[in-house]
Amino acid sequence: MPDRYAVIGNPVAHSKSPAIHAAFARQTGQDMDYGRLEAPVDGFESAVAAFRREGGRGLNVTLPFKEQAFRLASGVSARARAAEAVNTLKFTATGIEGDNTDGVGLVRDLCDNLGVGLRGRRLLIAGAGGAAQGVLLPLREAGAVAIVVANRTAARAEALAARFPGVRGCGYADLAGERFDLVVNATSAGLAGEAPPLPAGLLAAGGVAYDMVYGKGQTPFLQLAAQAGAKTADGLGMLVEQAAEAFRIWHGVLPETAPVYRQLRDEIGK
Ligand code: NAP
Repeated sequence: MPDRYAVIGNPVAHSKSPAIHAAFARQTGQDMDYGRLEAPVDGFESAVAAFRREGGRGLNVTLPFKEQAFRLASGVSARARAAEAVNTLKFTATGIEGDNTDGVGLVRDLCDNLGVGLRGRRLLIAGAGGAAQGVLLPLREAGAVAIVVANRTAARAEALAARFPGVRGCGYADLAGERFDLVVNATSAGLAGEAPPLPAGLLAAGGVAYDMVYGKGQTPFLQLAAQAGAKTADGLGMLVEQAAEAFRIWHGVLPETAPVYRQLRDEIGK
C-alpha cells in the first residue's frame, strides 16, 4: 500500500498540489498516493481524524483551515508558531506535527530562482491575511532591513505587524511618498481581477513586484508594476517551493523544483 497524503481545504478542486507531489514522488522514487480532501467548513478536525484513522500520513492545509490546523497540531515549528498558521501536518506515532512552508517557499523562489537578494532591502507586503502571516518571519530572517505590511483593513495590518518586532502595519494611503525594493502582493485581489489600491511610485528603480496569485496572464497588480518598469513574478514558483519543503518534511528529501515548475508553467500558459 502506498503512503497516503492529501491537500485539505474548501474548495480544493482547483489545487495543483496533487500534480506537484506526484511529480516529486516520481522524481525521488517515493511510493505515495496524494489526493484532495474537501472538508465541510465546520468539519476540519473530524475530517483530519478520519483521514488519519484510515492510515493517512500527512496533509497539506489550505484555505480556510490554516489557523485551525495550527490549533490542532500537538507540536509546531518556530515558523508555524510565528505565523500562527499551519499548512503542513505530519502524523506521527505520538501526535500531529505542524509546520508552515509558505515563507520558506517565497524566500527560495525570490532568492534562488529569481535572484532577488533580500539582505538590506526594504519590503512592502500588501495584505494581512493567512499568506502574509506565513511569510513575515522568513522574510525578516532573510535579512530584509525594513518590512511594512499594508492592508485594505488597516487595523488588521497593524495587529499583524505588532506580532513581529521591527515590522510596521498601516493602510494603503499611508504609504504615499515611500519607496521599496520589493513589493509582494499577498492579497487575493488578483483572483477578482483587481489590484490593491497602492499609491503610485512605490517601487525604487530596479524594484521587483511579486504577486502570490498565479495563473495565465498577469494580474492587474503585475500589469501596473510592469508598466512602471519593475521586474515582475507571479506565485507559481512559491507554490512549487512550499510544496517541496512539505515533501522534505514528510520524506526527508528535498526534490528538484525546476522541472516541476516548468511543467506547470507550460500547462498554465504564460
Ligand atoms: P485571506 O486570508 O483570505 O486574506 C485575503 C487578503 O486579501 C486580505 O488581506 C484582504 O484584505 C485582501 N483582499 C482581498 N480582496 C481584496 C481587494 N479586492 N483589494 C484589496 N485587498 C483585498 O487569503 P490568504 O490566505 O492570505 O491568501 C491571499 C492570496 O495568496 C490568495 O489568493 C492565495 O491563493 C495566495 N497564496 C498563494 C500561495 C502560493 O504558494 N503562491 C500561498 C499562499 C497564498 P482585508 O483584510 O481588508 O479583507
